[in-house]
Amino acid sequence: MQSSLPTIEHYERLIGSEAADRILAKADRLRDLHIVNVNSTYYGGGVAEILSSLTLLMNGSGIRTGWRVIQGRPDFFSITKKMHNALQGGEIFFSDLKQDIYEEVVFENAARMHLDHDVVIVHDPQPLPLIEHFRKKAPWIWRCHVDLTRPDPALWEYLSRFVERYDAVVVSLPEYAQKISPPQRFIMPAINPFSTTNKDLTEEEIAERLDHYDIPTDLPLVVQVSRFDKWKDPQGVIDAFRIARKEVDATLVLVGNIATDDPEGQEIFESLCSCREDRIRVLSVQDTAFVNALQRRADVVLQKSLREGFGLTVTEAMWKGAVVIGGNVGGIKHQIEDGVNGFLVDSVEAAAEKIVRVLKDPRLRETMGKKARETVRSQFLMTRLMEDWLDLVTSFEA
Ligand code: UDP
Repeated sequence: MQSSLPTIEHYERLIGSEAADRILAKADRLRDLHIVNVNSTYYGGGVAEILSSLTLLMNGSGIRTGWRVIQGRPDFFSITKKMHNALQGGEIFFSDLKQDIYEEVVFENAARMHLDHDVVIVHDPQPLPLIEHFRKKAPWIWRCHVDLTRPDPALWEYLSRFVERYDAVVVSLPEYAQKISPPQRFIMPAINPFSTTNKDLTEEEIAERLDHYDIPTDLPLVVQVSRFDKWKDPQGVIDAFRIARKEVDATLVLVGNIATDDPEGQEIFESLCSCREDRIRVLSVQDTAFVNALQRRADVVLQKSLREGFGLTVTEAMWKGAVVIGGNVGGIKHQIEDGVNGFLVDSVEAAAEKIVRVLKDPRLRETMGKKARETVRSQFLMTRLMEDWLDLVTSFEA
């Protein structure tokens, strides 16, 4: 197999030649730059998914773009997961000891990283303090992906001392903006339609993946794909499914993976596994082709999040023409237009009602599914995300 980098030309048939030419011209102006991204996991979760595609597309467009991952012991990631939860509105007891471990591990990573690039983009709170350990010669941008609607005030105040050192902060939505001095920019994530998660599959390929995991296909499929995380409300999905099943028979598949920077996943997975009903399947696997197959075969997809910076899984399923029932929170509110290209729900009961409605109405699935795909084509493909980043980086060059 001849390997080659993805290029903007690959997207031309989806975005049109005018948009492709415009993005190529913008990339050309940044051709000599050397950019680096730093985050905290190579797989599992949306940030890794975005970086794995975006960095290749940037390189394929002639901009040298790297991706580094910080290393940490489980105790470090246990602390940063608690921070993540508190930034999304949970509680935290952030002791001096936890603070020391957090800062020490980031310091150790900084010592090994030698970041000497033209632009440094640091993702999420895990590597945030890196900036303290470099003599800054280039713009440093903090890209925070979490739902910052209601961050814990004390934790935010502590993190602000690092945030203030950055040249810009990027969050997904204006409602996540904070009172800080660096300029704030709003960029919504996007998906790669050619990745294993999203590329077209034949009916045989879909059937093979579902068969591999013994997924029954005799009844309609209700699906949620998510890390095992309390903010994704997997228990709420099970509860909604149980209510819906009183009216329409179906199978629920909850599939998730466990990211290396998310130590709570295993416990949440185990708590759900104890639910052993014939028509409820809970699987923990790392298989993006399976995710793709499930989203394609699903009769309805849920993303019943209680907080969500931006739900990549929502956009992935919409790209496949699925009707998505999403939690009426954070980024999902901007991804789904309620009643037009999917549904937004505020409770278990509302989710159950929408499951029944979608499963009973094949025409609704057809028309909404088409609108969902068009929404993604016009707003949430990787080329749009790359263009937003090119515009931001160009603003520093001026
Ligand atoms: N994902 C996956 N396998 C799973 C669960 C999730 O590959 O079992 C992927 C999913 O397809 C998506 C990403 O992980 O690309 C999750 O991103 P999202 O923004 O939905 O949530 P996050 O995990 O970042 O909170």
